[in-house]
Amino acid sequence: MPKLITGVGCPYCGSSCDDLEVLVSDDETKVLEVHNACIIGNNLFHHANDPTRPRLPRQRQPDGSMKEIPYEEAIDYFAKTLLAAKKPLIYGFGSTNCEGMSAVGRIAEKAGAVLDNCATICHGPSFLAMFDNGYPSCTLGEAKNRADVVVFWGCNPMHAHPRHTSRYSIFPRGYFTGKGQMQRTVLSVDPRETDTAKLADVHLMLDQGHDYELFDAFRTVLRGHDIPDKVAGIDKETIIKAVDIMKKARFCMIFFGMGCTHTDGRNHNIDAAISMTRDLNDHTKASIMAMRGHYNIAGPGQVWSWQFGFPYCIDLSKGTHAHMNPGETSSIDLAMRDEVDCFVNVGADAGAHFPIQAVQHLKKHPFIAVDPNFCMASEIADLHIPVRIAGVDEPGVVYRMDNVPIQFKAVLKGLPGVPSDEELFDKVYERMCEITLTQPIWLAAKENRKYPHNTNPVVS
Ligand code: SF4
Repeated sequence: MPKLITGVGCPYCGSSCDDLEVLVSDDETKVLEVHNACIIGNNLFHHANDPTRPRLPRQRQPDGSMKEIPYEEAIDYFAKTLLAAKKPLIYGFGSTNCEGMSAVGRIAEKAGAVLDNCATICHGPSFLAMFDNGYPSCTLGEAKNRADVVVFWGCNPMHAHPRHTSRYSIFPRGYFTGKGQMQRTVLSVDPRETDTAKLADVHLMLDQGHDYELFDAFRTVLRGHDIPDKVAGIDKETIIKAVDIMKKARFCMIFFGMGCTHTDGRNHNIDAAISMTRDLNDHTKASIMAMRGHYNIAGPGQVWSWQFGFPYCIDLSKGTHAHMNPGETSSIDLAMRDEVDCFVNVGADAGAHFPIQAVQHLKKHPFIAVDPNFCMASEIADLHIPVRIAGVDEPGVVYRMDNVPIQFKAVLKGLPGVPSDEELFDKVYERMCEITLTQPIWLAAKENRKYPHNTNPVVS
């Protein structure tokens, strides 16, 4: 009998929907039907049935071809390569669970690596602004139950987070928003007429890259001062009208995306957006939230801040303390300066998303890809190690875009012999300890002894 699994989380976008129902075959090896997911989530689960999914690591041969090798051999190569490197870079973690993120921390510390995640190329500027200016945010539940004015600034959830508008922001009926969409006013600030902008009551089509000026104009109007007749390509009257809608809201929710973080101004845009949210709170209740891209990209920020004190761009190569300085310790900057001598790509695709010059530098050195599927990074790597798909055949904790942790279930039995990210990293760590004749941390803890010594001292 096929089995229906309810309360399933979707491991794709930052909406991290956890209301999916998945019908699986009686032997739990095949997804038959997926209910409640958008088309992307639906395809993701069905893709797990793909018989061509890799089941063994593949290593590049002298003639350029890839040859399947046993996991033990791949783990040995992984451990030795990391130990031999002076400054390895371990990057990615857009698509794995917090258990894997925690396990990789031990490896990074032992190897004296730089540990970075996809935030370095998406919401890294948001982190910088939050460090400077705080983060007056809330949960998506509060947005659903309270927000009667919703602003989408530089983001297009209709494409990037397809169920965001139906679960949290525009259409759902909440405790104080019982009429759903009828009770909400939606503003979109975007230089393009996106599908989200088409849904909005007011679309401010600003000049591309002029977000900072527009945030400042909003703040100036909020404080009761005059502004020029046109700011960032938007008429003064339209700006005053938009500010008036936001001021009169019972609860104004501002969502911002990479249209803000990766246009001119970058972190300063977010700084201004946070200040605008604070100014709005002089008039009504307002909150702001980053539209995080992947289903658990908020996870490394949580896990590594707990482990190392920083959310991304964490340089552990000094061996005595963790050091974070985006621009110096960020993945693309390191790669562009050819400063790393080993690259590990985990649950992301640097091959597809990094500038070609950065990839060319990374390719001069050992390049390892850890990914359940074939991707551009896996195809240019020297070693590709397949793992289970978190949220499909591996359970785990994920942090939704509002930093709420959710326990994701596994709906399928994992492919035989294929480890999870956590199991793989634990084995690599054990092998590194064997090679350096040190004892794994957890064994020392188990025997209630002090951790003896490490080639790279523990970073606290
Ligand atoms: Fe999955 Fe995102 Fe679609 Fe929800 S909106 S089902 S998390 S892809």
